[in-house]
Amino acid sequence: MINETLIAGFRMRRISKRPANEMRQSVDCIFGPNVKPVATVSSGDVVEVEVYDCFANAIRPDRSLKEVLGSGEEMFDNPVTGPIYIEGAERGDTLAVDILGIDVGEHAVTALVPGFGALEGWLTEVPPVTKFSEIRDGKVVFVTSKEKSIKISIQPFIGTIGVAPAVESVSTVTPSRHGGNLDTSYVTVGNRLYLRVNVKGALFGLGDVHARQGNGEICGTAAEVPALVRLRFEVIKGKRIDWPRIESPDAIMTVCSARPLEDAARLAARELMRWLVADFGLEEYEAYMLLSIAGDIEISQIVNPLYTAVAKIEKELLSQLG
Ligand code: CA
Ligand code: CA
Repeated sequence: MINETLIAGFRMRRISKRPANEMRQSVDCIFGPNVKPVATVSSGDVVEVEVYDCFANAIRPDRSLKEVLGSGEEMFDNPVTGPIYIEGAERGDTLAVDILGIDVGEHAVTALVPGFGALEGWLTEVPPVTKFSEIRDGKVVFVTSKEKSIKISIQPFIGTIGVAPAVESVSTVTPSRHGGNLDTSYVTVGNRLYLRVNVKGALFGLGDVHARQGNGEICGTAAEVPALVRLRFEVIKGKRIDWPRIESPDAIMTVCSARPLEDAARLAARELMRWLVADFGLEEYEAYMLLSIAGDIEISQIVNPLYTAVAKIEKELLSQLG
């Protein structure tokens, strides 16, 4: 699954997706402590990871979701490439993942999946509907039934990214403390994601790249694309976090998932408050007030088994603390 290419004078390892005929739900569609790693990498390594789209590339311009569902063949929901064993990572550490690059495919698929989507139960009927959109010149070309087209700039990010929980296995469709199906657009190039390490080697995986997704991901799928993702890992020894965190050049963020959505928002706010207290020297109650004045709560998605919210504050404000 691994080959090495010499890129710009340093070795970058390619970790390939598993061939379709070797995929298994219990391996490729879970984050779990007992899945055999496909590769081992060290802190500081740059890797290039090949990922399927959220339908395991089974829906193509010549094959709609309706045809796939009607065929009765096994569908792989939201497969991830991995797990990748991170050398030196142990329970109680934090894994930092720098997202260095995301190359997306030439077309995106968006689908209405019966029984899935934020408006499930609010629409009279949702049949399986498939829409293919070309990606041209950095834009998703969304063509309507009246042959009008809307060009939407791509903003690629990784929808599903995480590590193994300590004991149980979790479907790649569910987001939680281990990361998973966060669908948070901030998991993108130039940003750093922090994940709590629950098992030796972390057992990291990713997939479900979106060329573009609006906050909420209302119909349940976005501009879904296969992709090549470049990442660098760092193990932060002895640093414990409870929920995923993101650092962009401008802001720090916490990413929490729960139902109802209010609980996801409350969790994210509490985690950010705790971060301000632990690392920025604020008292709990002043962190609470500061977030009320200058922090933001944003919805990532309201379609997965748990909903995801982000709490965010600008670094510039925190830099004034010295
Ligand atoms: Ca997703
Ligand atoms: Ca998706």
